[in-house]
Amino acid sequence: MGILLWENVGGGDAVKKFIIFLLMISFLTVATSCYSDPEDDTTVYITSAGQKYHRENCRYVRGKAIEISLSKALREGYDPCKVCKP
Ligand SMILES: [Zn+2]
Repeated sequence: MGILLWENVGGGDAVKKFIIFLLMISFLTVATSCYSDPEDDTTVYITSAGQKYHRENCRYVRGKAIEISLSKALREGYDPCKVCKP
């Protein structure tokens, strides 16, 4: 009787652990898919004078590139460069 009760508690604990494990896996999957969203956090480059954003190796920003996220560049009204097409 005592042993049977012990086994039941042990089994329930394992199920709980398994459910927590599943929750963690699904949470991590959601977090990873949000984190790896390619659109918002692409890094682009602007210059202090220009109104365009560029790729890192564009000749227009070489030597004077200011790193900025794509979402911020768009929010601040920058347009994509026609040469490097970021
Ligand atoms: Zn460019």
